[in-house]
Amino acid sequence: MKINVLQAKKAIGNEQTFEFVTSAEELAIEGESPWKSSVIHVEGKLINNGRVIAVEGVISANAQYQCSCCLEDFSAKMEIPFSDNYQQSSDEAIDDEADLAYYTGDEIDIADLVRESLILAEPLKSVCGETCLGLCPHCGINLNTAQCDCQGKLIDPRLAVLQKLLK
Ligand SMILES: [Zn+2]
Ligand SMILES: [Zn+2]
Repeated sequence: MKINVLQAKKAIGNEQTFEFVTSAEELAIEGESPWKSSVIHVEGKLINNGRVIAVEGVISANAQYQCSCCLEDFSAKMEIPFSDNYQQSSDEAIDDEADLAYYTGDEIDIADLVRESLILAEPLKSVCGETCLGLCPHCGINLNTAQCDCQGKLIDPRLAVLQKLLK
């Protein structure tokens, strides 16, 4: 995911936009991830601000999740912003800025930045919706799409006796 920055480097204030279409495979994101089979769009711009080339943009992709409540698969549109400052590695280090990335020659490769932004955006817990009812703890039926009568059956046997007497 290389951007040629020859033009941007020529003068302070020079701006340039970029756009890529990629995939988890191309980004070397291995194993199970919400983006495993997604088309990943990356777009943004960079600007030469004198000291560094500042890169910023947004990654958008349809992520595939399994709801941790009802276990159904669902997809959600993700918009993940990213940014970083790139310094040419042949230059003297300005200072020990932790959030400074480096590039060589006339190309900035944003693959690492995009990969890390995606991995950081991966939620630990995903729920298909705020109103997800989950699974019945007794029979395991998905309560979003079906109903069961477990609640009725699971009355305390002593209460059941009482109910009979009351009839
Ligand atoms: Zn759910
Ligand atoms: Zn049930």
